[in-house]
Amino acid sequence: MRIAIYPGSFDPLTNGHLDVVQRAAKLFDRVIVAVAKNESKHALFTLAERVAMVKKAVADLPNVEADSFDCLLVEYVVARKARAIVRGLRAVSDFEFEFQLALMNRKLEENVETIFMMPKDTYTFLSSRIVKEIARLGGDVSQFVPPNVQIALQKKLKPAKK
Ligand code: ADP
Repeated sequence: MRIAIYPGSFDPLTNGHLDVVQRAAKLFDRVIVAVAKNESKHALFTLAERVAMVKKAVADLPNVEADSFDCLLVEYVVARKARAIVRGLRAVSDFEFEFQLALMNRKLEENVETIFMMPKDTYTFLSSRIVKEIARLGGDVSQFVPPNVQIALQKKLKPAKK
C-alpha cells in the first residue's frame, strides 16, 4: 500500500490544492490530506472547519481522506505508515522554502521522500491568501475554490449586522 501525505494549512482549500490531490491520487494507493493545526499562522478557519471543507471537496475521490495533525510532520507521516510527502510547486518563488523544508524533513526522517507536483498552469497564480483577500473585498472566487469552500467563505466573511 503506497500512502502519501499532502500536508498544509488549507486555509481554505483551493482548486490548486485540489488539482494536486487529484494528481497524487492517481500515483498513490491512498492520499491523506493532512491539515496542520499550526497556531503560529493566524488562520481564518478553525482546524475543524478546514478539515470539514477538505472532506467534502474530496468526497468523490475514493482513495483520498482528510485528517489533521498537531505534531512534527515526519512523525505524523511515520505514524500513518506513509512513505511520501506531497507538496505543490507553483513557481520559482515556492522553491526555496519547499527545498529547505524537504531537506530538513529528510534529515529528521530519511525514509520519507518528498514529491513535488505542479498544478495545471491556470492554478499557478492561486493561493489561499489571495483567495481570502478577493473574498474579503466581495470579489467572485467561484473559479478558484470548490463550491463548498465558496459558501464557507461567504458565511465567514459576511459583514456583521449592526
Ligand atoms: P502551507 O503548507 O505553506 O501553509 P498551503 O496550505 O497554502 O501552504 O499549501 C499546501 C501545499 O500546497 C504547499 O506545498 C503549497 O505550495 C501547495 N499549493 C498551494 N497553492 C497551490 C496551488 N495553487 N497549486 C499547487 N500547489 C499549491
